[in-house]
Amino acid sequence: MKIDIKANDVWIYGFGAAGKWASDNINASVKGFIDSGAAKHGKKYKDLLVYSPEEAKKQIKSSDSIFVTVLDIQDVIPIIENKFDNKWFALGEFITNQKADLNLTDESDEFIEYTLKAAELCHKSFLKKDNKFLHSVDIVISEKCTLNCKDCANLMQYYEDAKNIDFEMVVRDFENLVSKIDHIFEVRLIGGEPFVNKDIYKIIDYFLDSNKITKLVIYTNATIPLKGDLMKKYVTPKLVFSITDYGALSKNTNKVIDLLEEMNIAYRALPPNNWTDSAVIKDQKRSEDGMIDIFERCCGKNLFTIMYGKLYRCPFVSNAERLHAIPFDDKNGVSLESSIEEIVEYTSGIKYLPACNFCNGRSHDAPEIIPAIQAKEKLPFKKYINITLKES
Ligand code: SF4
Ligand code: SF4
Repeated sequence: MKIDIKANDVWIYGFGAAGKWASDNINASVKGFIDSGAAKHGKKYKDLLVYSPEEAKKQIKSSDSIFVTVLDIQDVIPIIENKFDNKWFALGEFITNQKADLNLTDESDEFIEYTLKAAELCHKSFLKKDNKFLHSVDIVISEKCTLNCKDCANLMQYYEDAKNIDFEMVVRDFENLVSKIDHIFEVRLIGGEPFVNKDIYKIIDYFLDSNKITKLVIYTNATIPLKGDLMKKYVTPKLVFSITDYGALSKNTNKVIDLLEEMNIAYRALPPNNWTDSAVIKDQKRSEDGMIDIFERCCGKNLFTIMYGKLYRCPFVSNAERLHAIPFDDKNGVSLESSIEEIVEYTSGIKYLPACNFCNGRSHDAPEIIPAIQAKEKLPFKKYINITLKES
């Protein structure tokens, strides 16, 4: 059954999987897509063009509606309310456990249903002003990686003395967070390469048992084969693998995929793409307005990351602080022992991070670079010593 928002002419905000799916499943005439990502402007899905908000503003009629499909709806509504006078609706308020049904996109039904569930929870919590829900949290379980990409956005190319984060610390940090936050749609285990950490199977067990999350996603570069005997118990729709296939560098992609298929575990395997020059750590001498601007335009600012007892807005700030590569500043992260009010202020109230001064940013219109060029050694960087971090 088609989604009926009781509107005749509609623009879809968001040119992702949910947006394309919605354009085929809405009971209205779709005029086009709106998206902030410059790389998408001018692209088409079934003859429907993608416009920037500025271009769409010139085309849209006052009677048209805007249908928001972007998961991070909190970033999109201010743009719509500033630039347009049109009525808007959120995809998530019209769906409950939605099946892919009519899926004309290039994505699998499983991926569409995953994205629609995320939209449902993100949009409903936004509309209810429920600030005890988080869309996604990354948990770094290793600073070690089997590759050494010179432009790694997680800054692994700078770690001389990389460590694994042990099971006890992962659990303690997560329990601290969910003692205040009610639910998280997805927890993503990341590194470095998470399978370098020998505790990973214990960590997977723990998160699959947690009723505080909907999905557990494991990011891997497929250089380390999975342990089939330990994987047997993981046949659950809660678990998803996200494989970055680095071609010849990912030596065990076929082995990893064969095992996941044999066990019927959901996965996505994609080559590295959309890399931008976001791993430079440098004092950019930005004014406060400059930091507000770069933060506003950053597509990484909602990549909430847990490391060593703190919650951070993005992998740049968490790893730069860990490496002592930026001056220590309390405002860069929030302790997981803080009150819910302090955590909510950090996750939704701030306008920039002091760390944004040291970052190139990850704007939607930043030029792409060649991904995964390997550095021969770890890269040098300037260290700041006025920093205190707890390691256990
Ligand atoms: S594979 Fe490359 S990009 Fe991924 S974590 Fe390792 S160094 Fe970073
Ligand atoms: S430090 Fe600021 S600009 Fe850089 S990725 Fe994080 S939020 Fe974005």
